[in-house]
Amino acid sequence: MKISVAGTGYVGLVTGVCLAENDHDVTCVDIESHKVALMKSGISPIYEPGLEELMNNNMDRLHFTTDYKAAYKDADVIFIGVGTPEKSDGSANLSYVYGVAEQIAASIEKDCVVVVKSTVPIGTNDKIENLIKSQLKHDVKVYVASNPEFLSQGTAVKDTLHTSRIVIGVEEEVAGERLKEVYKNFDAPIVVTNRKSAEMIKYASNDFLALKISFINEIANLCEIIGADIEDVARGMGHDSRIGNKFLNAGIGYGGSCFPKDTKALHWLANFHDYELKTVKAAIDVNENQKLKLIKKSRKYFDNLKGLNVAVLGLTFKPGTDDLREAPTLVNIPLMLEDGANVRAWDPIGIDNFKKVHPEDVTYCYSIEETLKDADVCFIFTEWDQVKHFDLANYSKLMKNPIVIDGRNCYDLESVKSATMVYDSIGRETIH
Ligand code: NAD
Repeated sequence: MKISVAGTGYVGLVTGVCLAENDHDVTCVDIESHKVALMKSGISPIYEPGLEELMNNNMDRLHFTTDYKAAYKDADVIFIGVGTPEKSDGSANLSYVYGVAEQIAASIEKDCVVVVKSTVPIGTNDKIENLIKSQLKHDVKVYVASNPEFLSQGTAVKDTLHTSRIVIGVEEEVAGERLKEVYKNFDAPIVVTNRKSAEMIKYASNDFLALKISFINEIANLCEIIGADIEDVARGMGHDSRIGNKFLNAGIGYGGSCFPKDTKALHWLANFHDYELKTVKAAIDVNENQKLKLIKKSRKYFDNLKGLNVAVLGLTFKPGTDDLREAPTLVNIPLMLEDGANVRAWDPIGIDNFKKVHPEDVTYCYSIEETLKDADVCFIFTEWDQVKHFDLANYSKLMKNPIVIDGRNCYDLESVKSATMVYDSIGRETIH
């Protein structure tokens, strides 16, 4: 089957590479020529564990181009995996998706199934189909299918090759059959439904996970006030199979390119239809506050951060990715700088991207030790393994003032008790 994929970001490129790994001939299209040049030379433009290796293993079935016309004209299936970022009012910006739809209409010369992988508001697949059909340049049949993506950044390749489910939203059987053929080697349950339900499955899944995170964060905040321990509480809750033990890690809230925008987009859509999604609104509000939790905690130790050496461990929104979209550091580091702090930051792969936003006002360090040297306070924003496995004795050895404010509960309190440091984490007793 000849497949083309529009967009070579975290979803598009991973999809293309994993389909090639499953014996399909795949052409990946992007408008950014520098990305295409990198991929042609075997370099992935994004960091995702295992991606570059799998891409290079499948180069004979993978093609990269900016020439969408050539890529789409005789494709059996075209996946749309371009971004749907948040607009200022919270709704989804669909201009990239519609842009691809127009390019498809102008290019296809044979019957084709267009598969929407991008996360799009309920009803968008219908609009994409109408748009393509109204602008077709050749007399061909086009079917639009919704096939939302559930991968997580940091584990995207594994999540795609061993996906929890394949959701197929179609209005005509022929589109569903073609997609089943695409996924015939994938060992996963397939849920076939109509397009609107498939679109809703994606939003409902993401918003439920966001809600679970905000819920545990609120319980953590209350644990701190009343003297309970969130780690024990979450463990006790997680044994109940109705609750499950995943996504119960208290911290400084969710970030990334999906949960923040997908909660706001569904809330916006509900409002548009005169319905208030109260639970989703609560998840959004709790998350906004939670992001600022570490700075607020620092006020217990300092009136402000003026003139202090501040060590920041972790810049990305989660470990395993170089992505900074909606990372808590993007709001916290400017606040530290406003306060007058000398910010020194470490991240194993996020520094280059962070430098694009803060080229000069942050000192970047290439080891945790270098970051902590003479620091008055350390903030942990990302639970990288290097942080979790860092020898706790080093904090007091290296820092001027060993105060560690941990937004990701990287250490168990018993280990911290044997180190000489102040350790303030989320939803747990502070260790002095
Ligand atoms: P991204 O920003 O990483 O990548 C989008 C890519 O599309 C960019 O490389 C851009 O240059 C390219 N592009 C834009 N217009 C194009 C066009 N006309 N033709 C070809 N390429 C074009 O985005 P992403 O994170 O991969 O997300 C894509 C979609 O998937 C979004 O709707 C997102 O909500 C959804 N999603 C993302 C994730 C995730 O973890 N990132 C998970 C599930 C679903």
